[in-house]
Amino acid sequence: MSEGPSPNASDFIREMIRADVASKKHDGAVVTRFPPEPNGYLHIGHAKSICLNFGAAEENGGRCHLRFDDTNPSTEDIEYVESIQRDVRWLGFDWGEHLYYASDYYERLYMLGEKLIELGRAYVCDLTEDEFANDYRGTITEHGKDSPYRARSKDENLDLFRRMRAGEFADGAKVLRARIDMTSPNMKMRDPPLYRIKHAHHYRTGDAWCLYPLYDFAHCLSDSFEGITHSLCTMEFESARELYDWVVAATEVPHVPRQTEFARLNLSYTVMSKRKLLKLVKDGVVAGWDDPRMPTISGMRRRGYTPEAIRAFCKRIGVAKNLSTVDLALLEHTVRDDLNERAPRVLAVLRPLKVVVESWRDGEVDVLDAPYWPHDVPKEGTRPLPFTRELFIDRDDFAEEPPKGFKRLAPGREVRLRHAYVVRCTQVIKDAQGEIVELRCTHDASSRGGAPADGRKIDGTIQWVSATHATPLEVRLYDRLFTTESPGEGDRDFMEDLNPAALTSVSALGEASLANARHGEHYQLERTGFFVVDPDTTEGRIVLNRTVALKDAWARAQASSAGASPKVDAAARPKAQKTPAQAPRVVEELAPRARAWVDTHAIAEDDARTLAAHEALARVFDEALAASADARAVAGLLVNEILGELRSRDTDAPPFGGAEVAELVVLAGDGTLSRSQVKDVLGHMFAGEGAPRAIVEARGLRQIASEDALAPVVDRVLADNADAVARLRGGNANVLGALVGMVMKATGGKANAKVVRELVQARVAG
Ligand code: ATP
Ligand code: MG
Repeated sequence: MSEGPSPNASDFIREMIRADVASKKHDGAVVTRFPPEPNGYLHIGHAKSICLNFGAAEENGGRCHLRFDDTNPSTEDIEYVESIQRDVRWLGFDWGEHLYYASDYYERLYMLGEKLIELGRAYVCDLTEDEFANDYRGTITEHGKDSPYRARSKDENLDLFRRMRAGEFADGAKVLRARIDMTSPNMKMRDPPLYRIKHAHHYRTGDAWCLYPLYDFAHCLSDSFEGITHSLCTMEFESARELYDWVVAATEVPHVPRQTEFARLNLSYTVMSKRKLLKLVKDGVVAGWDDPRMPTISGMRRRGYTPEAIRAFCKRIGVAKNLSTVDLALLEHTVRDDLNERAPRVLAVLRPLKVVVESWRDGEVDVLDAPYWPHDVPKEGTRPLPFTRELFIDRDDFAEEPPKGFKRLAPGREVRLRHAYVVRCTQVIKDAQGEIVELRCTHDASSRGGAPADGRKIDGTIQWVSATHATPLEVRLYDRLFTTESPGEGDRDFMEDLNPAALTSVSALGEASLANARHGEHYQLERTGFFVVDPDTTEGRIVLNRTVALKDAWARAQASSAGASPKVDAAARPKAQKTPAQAPRVVEELAPRARAWVDTHAIAEDDARTLAAHEALARVFDEALAASADARAVAGLLVNEILGELRSRDTDAPPFGGAEVAELVVLAGDGTLSRSQVKDVLGHMFAGEGAPRAIVEARGLRQIASEDALAPVVDRVLADNADAVARLRGGNANVLGALVGMVMKATGGKANAKVVRELVQARVAG
């Protein structure tokens, strides 16, 4: 990266990684990975993940792998593999030697599938996914029940699994399931499928396989194979983490990676699902994945965004756990910031109106030496700018009957032509229909490149080009692709929210110097916007894409919320538009309410932000505080458990209040309930079964915290996992968590994890 690793970047993930390095976890190594599925082009959301994975590794002397998570043969393609590599490189990151494909692990993964069967930890199940989901998996409040195939013998399972691989069964006829726990409060742990049959051609392995591992099996094991230390992914994988850990422990692979989740980036006025982006491409709504209207990296590149701007944006939005939608205006603001010192200023008119300077001799050319940069950009350079008798100005810069405050050209009035002369309009010429076709002017010879000699004040400055030296331009004006902040919100089809005016193409005229413009160059057309030269440009036909307009909704909203008037360079920026600026969300700042919670109750900023953004949770939180509960514990419960539950139930508010939550926190804090029992009780609370204490009594829930009761279970698990114990004794501290997890499972989640941990440690040491 050109600006080098940023010493300031800080977020909960980077802090965790730094702490791990300091404590010599994984011998101080940091290995991350960016794991795209090659089923589409990368978008700005992926850029967030790329900047985090590559950035955090680089900042800690580690490395980041690029791994194609290609386990779904029907949607993947080499075109995507290539575009993804191009885009990651373009963003400024380098995976060096470390390019991997999950499809290269198929054999190894398959062998681990057999191993799970041998260990009695997986079985072949003949239920279809629908049958399993409807009749066996249960619901969040009801336990599931065992598949009738769960008791199959090892030999039968092995035989079937091998025949699945050999192609004896049809798609969907059988799956390999993990044998975990049909009563787990975590639905993902209820015997999830690990392998499915799919007779399909894979873009890399061809027809070698008809059995493909599922994400939950392939991803964590690929991480383990590659020695990934920190597996960073988005929040939707939070509930899959338990399964991630289970698969790693159950297959007994030597390296244990750890998954940590962060919030995915959402941008207003944008869709980011690859499925939706693919539809836009397939339906021909856009010209391709790299259409400048697309939120893809390749679209943004073609639009004129630079890698530096995208990285700066990712740094600005930071990394946290709470879901937030970032205002598109912030991205555009960052792009403007970046282009300000990158894009020389030139003149062009988009709606040409002819002007004849009658006081100028026909055929005479005054070549002005015009600076490329405004005073506030510390750069030098000029270009020749020819002034002639016939010019063009922009139609919008002339008003026959100027409204109040209009400072541009009007009959009898003066205006400054940028870098050139002050002219006065003496006559308006119209055609038979009354349309204005030409203006006649005179110029003030004393004003060449500056103020008139007599010092009279000229209010307005406008752009112009010489009619005899102009460069024809095709200017493509891009606007946001959707008209609404959250396209497709509710049950609306997102396609209905498309902005029909997202692209307007106009024939325009640029100054003479633009004849030399080359593909990829950035320009600011003064008072109009930042532009980039499109690859469609040919000799004699310059195509410019508008990267971003000059009006800055973000800066204006910031300025007005700070009570200041925005600083606008009068010559370079048009007047504030009549459309009110979207009030952009300030992602870095805490709302006053959240700030007060942090200051008064010492809860984490991330938690405060999440609570403040969620009305019902904020209310429950305040109620729980009123019941004098432990604020941090309540916040943790609301953010980590209850919020997820609300989302998966698609409701806004829980069917209980802060008093009940306070009661639950007490039961968790005084040791009555284990962590997984807390989740259990929550499930019952959501089902409307009443207050926590009543549920605990009615169901006889109590955690097991006595060493005497737990010791036999610990001993049994340790005896069953002798090689894991050996590895732990050999210094592989990661195995500890896996063993504790197995004991917890053996007690149905009723054990006190802390006591279990101490027991395991004591046994292993002793
Ligand atoms: P889909 O749109 O099909 O769900 P995806 O966007 O998750 O796919 P992947 O190729 O699986 O696509 O993503 C690669 C990585 O990028 C994953 O680690 C994923 O978590 C991350 N990622 C994807 N979208 C975002 C986003 N909007 N913000 C941050 N990270 C993202
Ligand atoms: Mg994905």
